[in-house]
Amino acid sequence: MIEPGHYDVVIVGAGISGIGAAIKLNQMGVTNIAILEKGDSLGGTWRDNTYPGCACDVPSALYSFSFAPNPEWSRLFAGQPEIRTYIEETAAAYRVGDRVSFGTEMLRSQWSDATRRWQVETTKGTFTAKAVVAAAGPWNEPLTPNIPGLSGFGGEVFHFSRWNHDYELTGKRVAVVGTGASAVQFVPAIQPTVDELHLYQRTAQWVLPKPDHRVPAAEKWVMRRVPGSHRALRRIEYAIMEGLGYGFRHPWMLRIVQQIGRAQLVAQVSDRNLRTALTPDYTLGCKRLLMSNTYYPALSQPNVEVHPNAVAAIEGNFVVGADGARRKVDAIIFGTGFHILDMPIGSKVFDGQGRSLDDHWKGSPTAYLGTAIAGFPNAFVLLGPALGTGHTSAFMILEAQLDYLGQAISHARSQDWAPMAPRPEVQAAFNADVQAALQTTVYNAGGCQSYFLDVNGRNSFNWPWSTRRMRNRLSEFDAAAYLVANDKSSTETKELVP
Ligand SMILES: Cc1cc2nc3c(=O)[nH]c(=O)nc-3n(C[C@H](O)[C@H](O)[C@H](O)COP(=O)(O)OP(=O)(O)OC[C@H]3O[C@@H](n4cnc5c(N)ncnc54)[C@H](O)[C@@H]3O)c2cc1C
Repeated sequence: MIEPGHYDVVIVGAGISGIGAAIKLNQMGVTNIAILEKGDSLGGTWRDNTYPGCACDVPSALYSFSFAPNPEWSRLFAGQPEIRTYIEETAAAYRVGDRVSFGTEMLRSQWSDATRRWQVETTKGTFTAKAVVAAAGPWNEPLTPNIPGLSGFGGEVFHFSRWNHDYELTGKRVAVVGTGASAVQFVPAIQPTVDELHLYQRTAQWVLPKPDHRVPAAEKWVMRRVPGSHRALRRIEYAIMEGLGYGFRHPWMLRIVQQIGRAQLVAQVSDRNLRTALTPDYTLGCKRLLMSNTYYPALSQPNVEVHPNAVAAIEGNFVVGADGARRKVDAIIFGTGFHILDMPIGSKVFDGQGRSLDDHWKGSPTAYLGTAIAGFPNAFVLLGPALGTGHTSAFMILEAQLDYLGQAISHARSQDWAPMAPRPEVQAAFNADVQAALQTTVYNAGGCQSYFLDVNGRNSFNWPWSTRRMRNRLSEFDAAAYLVANDKSSTETKELVP
């Protein structure tokens, strides 16, 4: 039973990142750890997102821990229930659940120069720790736009990530606001049951065919019985996805892939006006890549209207589009994404001088190698800034970071947990390199507005190089890049602060 008290490491969040960090630390012999989880079970994203059609969009063999292969995936792209089960079973196999304090929300964490520890205030009391790992998830806090009149709407309103399964959609008039990765999944799932579906689309998306299929029994048999087969499959899937990543760094190559997206649009949408509305005006990959075989056919059904504009206001039970048109609906479902670069931990984590991450970042999150933050001793962030890709599995990024985290924690332990944070100038140089390299990638040069860009218009999300390079960079902890407050008599870590 994990109670408030002192731990070597406190991990915030029990999704794949927190679970992965706990497994890594445990393997290193760091067992005095607490995982704080505000929810009542494991799984993060895959616990919260129960919307119809929810599934991963990179192949499952790749969207899983390399050290915990699952030969039983039923589909090439597994659905949410199966992914959630996989995460729970992996956590159980490594006895992670024993370290979790459920229903415990981290409210505020501050480094104390006096005690050289993190003071972590939660809904269950105060934890202290020599190191903290923020594994709170970039895709955790739903983003609902501030639409005038929304609070006066008389019908049902929810965000896809908190799907209201008690609300019966059958026969209802439904407005869907937003056309991101999840809308592409749930729109085809609900279209056959609703009476009317009004899809508000600010930007048309590139949608590629999804090569999904049931995994044949023979393939599962091979995965179970033939040593190395799972690793081989993973490598193939990795290489294919990496090919796409190469294109994202050399956007001229994407013209070929765009032809595939365009061909699917032409084949599945015969209405010329609808096709025009669904044709993107930017380069594929500039926004997160989407895959679906059923999205365009769903939008072509007579009960669906695509409105190629934003929602301007809600008036009573009417949704008013930016074009001025009013439609009466019974329910509004937001498909509008998450607070990603304005991440909630930004206002909850403080340095020794009481300055928050948000104060440091001023709207543009940065971290050394996306993992450690100048001025924040012995603190690490998983799936942090500048590590996102538009193509491969979050597990690839995470495992590279866990490698680094393990070495960083070992180093801290070998120094008797001395406060240690990246040198500000090293962090700044790393981020300058990232920004320079991003300029020619499709993320920056593709001609779109995406969630990769922060409030300052800067790309704080993407890694501009190959994931091989990411793995190499993170495979060696570079102690020289860090300032270490070794002097035990000193109670100050001001020298660690930029
Ligand atoms: C619907 C969806 C589909 C996705 N599909 C893919 C995919 O196909 N491929 C891919 O590579 N990536 C995908 N992602 C992105 C990413 O892989 C997942 O979001 C992944 O689960 C991230 O894991 P995580 O552990 O970092 O965060 P999360 O899974 O979000 O877990 C974070 C945990 O932290 C907890 N938490 C947050 N704040 C606090 C706090 N203050 N105190 C205590 N607990 C807190 C949350 O309750 C949550 O359990 C998807 C994301 C979404 C939303």
